[in-house]
Amino acid sequence: MISIPKGTKDVLPADVYLWHHIEGKAREQAEAFGFREIRTPVFEHTELFARGVGDTTDIVNKEMYTFLDKGNRSITLRPEGTAGVARAFLENGLAGGAMPFKAYYLISAFRYERPQAGRLREFHQFGCELYGAAGAAADAEVISLADSFLRSLGLSRFELHINSIGCKTCRAAYHSALKEYFAPHLGEMCADCRMRYDKNPMRMLDCKEEGCKRFTAGAPRMLDFLCDDCRAHFEAVKDYLTQAGVAFSVDPSIVRGLDYYSRTVFEFTSAAAGAQGTVLGGGRYDTLLEQMGEKPVPAVGFAAGMERLLMVMAAEQVAVPPDRGVSCYLAGMDEPSRRQAFLLAAQLRRAGVSCEVDLMERSLKAQFKYADKRGARFVAVIGERELEEGAAEVKDMRNSSSERVKFQSLAQYINDKENGHE
Ligand code: ATP
Ligand code: MG
Repeated sequence: MISIPKGTKDVLPADVYLWHHIEGKAREQAEAFGFREIRTPVFEHTELFARGVGDTTDIVNKEMYTFLDKGNRSITLRPEGTAGVARAFLENGLAGGAMPFKAYYLISAFRYERPQAGRLREFHQFGCELYGAAGAAADAEVISLADSFLRSLGLSRFELHINSIGCKTCRAAYHSALKEYFAPHLGEMCADCRMRYDKNPMRMLDCKEEGCKRFTAGAPRMLDFLCDDCRAHFEAVKDYLTQAGVAFSVDPSIVRGLDYYSRTVFEFTSAAAGAQGTVLGGGRYDTLLEQMGEKPVPAVGFAAGMERLLMVMAAEQVAVPPDRGVSCYLAGMDEPSRRQAFLLAAQLRRAGVSCEVDLMERSLKAQFKYADKRGARFVAVIGERELEEGAAEVKDMRNSSSERVKFQSLAQYINDKENGHE
């Protein structure tokens, strides 16, 4: 048998209600803030991620699924959602439409990583992007949306950490300070960090090697280098969040894994998530479009990892409405009854009642067992007598009561019971 590729997972029908639940909350919350869904391709030209995500990042350096297609073009499966949305924003001239532009996405993303709990090679994200607004209110709106989304899932044991990583101007001085600080330790740090030292020393702060973390802890902090504008922006973001009742703490160590961030960066972490504690991350990326060779447009957004959310929801034991199964199972005792059940099922479905019939030619007892397993609320039994009467014996599986119901009234009967006006 051919097995599933490493780092991927099946979502089986019995578990899919959990995904529907999270996706439903994501849509509901994003739309409550005026965001609309955007769908972009699963693969893009490799160049888009090299430029958009940045070539000093782990994603671009080590984690991308890249291949040549039959036309000899270098193609990459998207490792994240922001670059594709940026391309779509530019290519469709969306800056000429209603601004700010607000979009959300529910996607799978691909990174060649070492698989472990909460870290997969194909994983899923809910993300939001807001283009055109430079002010602190936009940062606060996006963070509030993230907060509302996590709360709507019933989560409570999460924390919001925010930081500012400044702009090009103030980061120059910071980079010099970092280089000065790290220079004497470089020999003891990993090969990646030595590369980062030259290309983008701030990324050394995000290193996950224990040997490097020893040094990063005492490194200079960006917050001490912010220019007046960046400082004022950060203060305003904090004010908005405080006013909105969104609790946060400032964590100067957050730099995020992607190159495109500037000013505000944030992470929602959960103690319930174990080692992969970050369930949602985001920030401002005013230079992303510029990095892609276009006119800059200020932007801010986030992405949440669905698999990590599922882990945290399980750990916090939040209640998720279970899959209720179909409303009605139509059981037939003999061949003519099965035919009647089949016809009746079509009528019920047209009337909006979900139902199943026996497709396995099983005994009545076995049909009841199946209906029970599937969580059907009603079982409508049809046999010789019922056929003659033109009525089914309908059992309510919740309380085991039964009633005779005319075939033509069955849909109405079930709809009334399900809607609670019995
Ligand atoms: P990490 O530091 O954990 O590698 P990251 O900074 O690479 O995360 P982002 O690119 O910001 O992550 O992606 C946003 C969110 O997507 C993360 O906070 C996480 O919840 C989720 N995520 C990222 N990579 C994976 C993965 N390989 N498997 C599952 N979820 C992931
Ligand atoms: Mg990562």
